[in-house]
Amino acid sequence: MKYCPNCGAQLPDNAMFCSACGARFGAPQQNYQQPQYQQPQYQQPQKMTYWEKVKAAQKKQKIKWWMWPIIAVGTYLLLQLFPIS
Ligand SMILES: [Zn+2]
Repeated sequence: MKYCPNCGAQLPDNAMFCSACGARFGAPQQNYQQPQYQQPQYQQPQKMTYWEKVKAAQKKQKIKWWMWPIIAVGTYLLLQLFPIS
């Protein structure tokens, strides 16, 4: 003999649901884990050093270190072709 957890009615041990209120309780209880809601932490923007800023800017522009000599040579050639007079 067991009792309905919902209404307290007496029920046979093999009862899958309460005949009085209809509550189901025969199914194995699942361990429902409540997802823990984590409040998104607001991260204060960290103060960047000069070089970190430069690195970030380079990442943004996708300029690799090896591009600088090319840019320098290109600028030099342009100045040779079109001298500023
Ligand atoms: Zn019941």
